[in-house]
Amino acid sequence: MKALRFHEWGGPLRLEDVADPTPAPGEVLVEVRACGVGRTVLNCISGNLGSEPDKLPRIPGHELVGTIRACGSGVDSGREGELVAAYFYLTCGECRACYAGMQSCCENFAGYLGVDRDGGYAELVTLPAQSALPLPEGLDPVTATVVPDAVATPVHVAGVANIRAGDRVVVVGAAGGVGAHMAQVAALHGATVLGLDVDRRKLDFLADELGVDVADSSDFSSVRLPVAWSGADVVVDFLGSAKSLRWSLDALGVGGRLVVLTTFKDVDVAVSPRQLVTRHQTIAGSRYCGKAEFMRAADLVARGDVRAVIGAQVGLDGITALHDRLAAGEVMGRGALALDG
Ligand SMILES: [Zn+2]
Repeated sequence: MKALRFHEWGGPLRLEDVADPTPAPGEVLVEVRACGVGRTVLNCISGNLGSEPDKLPRIPGHELVGTIRACGSGVDSGREGELVAAYFYLTCGECRACYAGMQSCCENFAGYLGVDRDGGYAELVTLPAQSALPLPEGLDPVTATVVPDAVATPVHVAGVANIRAGDRVVVVGAAGGVGAHMAQVAALHGATVLGLDVDRRKLDFLADELGVDVADSSDFSSVRLPVAWSGADVVVDFLGSAKSLRWSLDALGVGGRLVVLTTFKDVDVAVSPRQLVTRHQTIAGSRYCGKAEFMRAADLVARGDVRAVIGAQVGLDGITALHDRLAAGEVMGRGALALDG
């Protein structure tokens, strides 16, 4: 099969002929039809999510969508032909967290698809059967690439932040792959959404195409909430910089909830416990999603309740150029690798 592999963490991708994988017991063989391309895959390749030398060479790509073509022993062969998308985290399915539907906090976490085992930048991939989650029939594979992370993560965040009708929600990094879908999921919950980003073209898209109020956050010291807002009920920060976190904490109103997802080892922010108490505020961390939320995301996309924002689509030979555009912040929403035809 054709596959894109890297041979050192942080090294370049090479388009190579690789032996077809065969499914081990408990696994399925998936013909990849499309794969989401976002900043997280750049993080995976760079070694930020794990960089063990014995995991090389590696095929990245964790947001894959495809069709099950074969089942290993112990897997119901009736699944052949099923359209599936991959759950990003490698989990056990049998611990307290998994049973509770919090698979992203699995007590026996075994790493990430595309880092600790091969992902979807290839014509074929094997997955643990429990990582290949069924998609609604007839869903377009490229459209479906937003399900595994770009929509599933916001569905989880909406639960973490308890977003309710009438809430005033700020999305920091609203034109990014997850942000553009977070804005839509918040609106689905009945929230009024303010989207922050830095590029005029992206802000215009959010305002004109998604109906989101926008503000330019090139300089956080000049970003103001709408006049009618006394404060934000929810801020979802996808940037994770010291400046974005400071602004986010200060923007919270009474009862406000800040959700953090993007973090960096060297970034901290001062928090006033006294303010948290007197203003009844919450800071919550959010880690990926549970599998039930993943399924809910698939339904939202299949029904058209959430629109897939895919700003660029390429074949295997166009991935490196797309990665460069992503790193430069030039892609609206998500990118996608399409293998059909
Ligand atoms: Zn588990």
